[in-house]
Amino acid sequence: LPVLATHQITKRYGATIALRNVDFQVHAGEIHALVGENGAGKSTLIKILAGAVRKDSGEIRLDGKKIELQEPAAAQRLGIRVVYQDFSLFPNITVGENLLVGRWHSRLPGLVDWKACYRRAEELLQGIGFQLDVRKPLNSLGVAEKQMLEIAKAVAEQPRLLILDEPTAVLEEEETQRLFGVVRRLRQSGTGIIFISHHLEEIFTLADRVTILKDGQVVDTRPTASTTKDE
Ligand code: ADP
Ligand code: ADP
Repeated sequence: LPVLATHQITKRYGATIALRNVDFQVHAGEIHALVGENGAGKSTLIKILAGAVRKDSGEIRLDGKKIELQEPAAAQRLGIRVVYQDFSLFPNITVGENLLVGRWHSRLPGLVDWKACYRRAEELLQGIGFQLDVRKPLNSLGVAEKQMLEIAKAVAEQPRLLILDEPTAVLEEEETQRLFGVVRRLRQSGTGIIFISHHLEEIFTLADRVTILKDGQVVDTRPTASTTKDE
C-alpha cells in the first residue's frame, strides 16, 4: 500500500491545464524524485498535496485512506510536510524558537519552559547532525543554514510524507551531502519522500524512483538504476 496515491488529478488555471489526470504514488521508505521542465506542473502538484491549491478533480489517498486537503492545516494534521524554497521561518526570533514554533507557540511569560525548549531544539539539531547555536537570531544565519533549519524542522515532526522543493539549490556540496544523510535516515523510518530537482546526478544518487511530468502529465515513472543507496 503506498503512503501517497493520487488518482486522476486534474487542475486548470483558466485555460491552462496545469495537471491532467495525474496518477502518482509514493511508497513507505521511498525517495521519489519529481522532475520536469518549467511549467510541467511540479509546483502545482506539490501545492495540492500541501493543501495550498485545490485540485479540480481526482482523488488523493494517504495510507489507503481518501483525504481532503482544503487548506494547509489539513495537510499538516495528516502528516504531510512541504519545504518550499521560500522560507517559513520567522526572522526576528532565535533558531531554537523557530524550531519549536508550533509545539510551544505561546510566548506568554511563565507558560513556556525556555530552558527545556532550547534543550529540545539542541537535541533535534543533533539528531540530524547539524550544528547550530539555538540561541542565535534567525536573521544572523546564511541562506544554507536557513534551508537546513527548515528541513530540520520538518523532519522533527516525523512526517508521513515529506516534500522538498529543490532542497539543494542553496546548499554547498558538504551541506548537500549532510542533507542526503538526513533524508536517507528519514527514509528508514518509513516516511515517503518527494523531492523536486533539476540535477540528474543528485536524482540518481539519492532517489529510488523518478517520475517525469511534462505539460501536466506523467510521461514516465521508473526506479533509478542503482538499488542500494545507503552508504
Ligand atoms: P512547474 O512547477 O513544473 O514549473 P507549475 O506547476 O508552476 O509548473 O505550472 C504549471 C502550469 O500552470 C504552467 O503553465 C504555469 O504557467 C501554470 N500556472 C501555475 N500557477 C498558476 C497560477 N497561479 N495561475 C495561472 N497559471 C498558473
Ligand atoms: P517554481 O516552479 O520555481 O516553484 P513558478 O514560476 O512555477 O515557480 O511559480 C511561482 C509562483 O507563481 C507560484 O505561486 C505559481 O503558482 C505562480 N504562477 C506560475 N505561473 C503562473 C501564471 N502563469 N500566472 C500566474 N501565476 C503563476
